[in-house]
Amino acid sequence: MEKVREERIEAIPSLRQYLEAHPSLNLDGERMSISFDGFHGWMKKSEHHISFHREITDTILVKQLKKLAKDPLNSVTTSLAEQKRVSISWVTVRDQSSRWGSCSSRGSISLNWRLILMPRGLQRHIILHELAHRVHPNHSSSFWNLLKSWDSNFEEHVQLLKERGKIWIRLGQSANNANP
Ligand SMILES: [Zn+2]
Repeated sequence: MEKVREERIEAIPSLRQYLEAHPSLNLDGERMSISFDGFHGWMKKSEHHISFHREITDTILVKQLKKLAKDPLNSVTTSLAEQKRVSISWVTVRDQSSRWGSCSSRGSISLNWRLILMPRGLQRHIILHELAHRVHPNHSSSFWNLLKSWDSNFEEHVQLLKERGKIWIRLGQSANNANP
């Protein structure tokens, strides 16, 4: 994946503020609604809903969301790899500060936990991008043609990532800087 261009943007919300304004997560094709409530513990998960404790900080939120993202992103990636008949060795979910994902020469795929903040189609687009690197380990025209053939909404997804990616990538980052 190409690096997200660093640009100055005014008023990036805290992760907590963002989730209050956009209270849903995309876990394995399933939209989960979110709320902030008072209860014992930081997070409670039921079938279609996740509650976070109302006192939760961005630092703890990042940890909880990364944990939540792990299995769903792993399973979407594994099933897309099977569909596209590419081999992968393993999938890791990380807190990258400037990438959505990467693919090693050995076929290990790393994904940014922030993919669960995105619409399903865009999440899929980013995973397909990394899987296409299993066929073409570069950004050649053959690579882009393959990705376009896999993603029927390619143009729309590229545009959406360009417009909103710069905000998504920064969510929760100040939390990390404050508490390395
Ligand atoms: Zn790439």
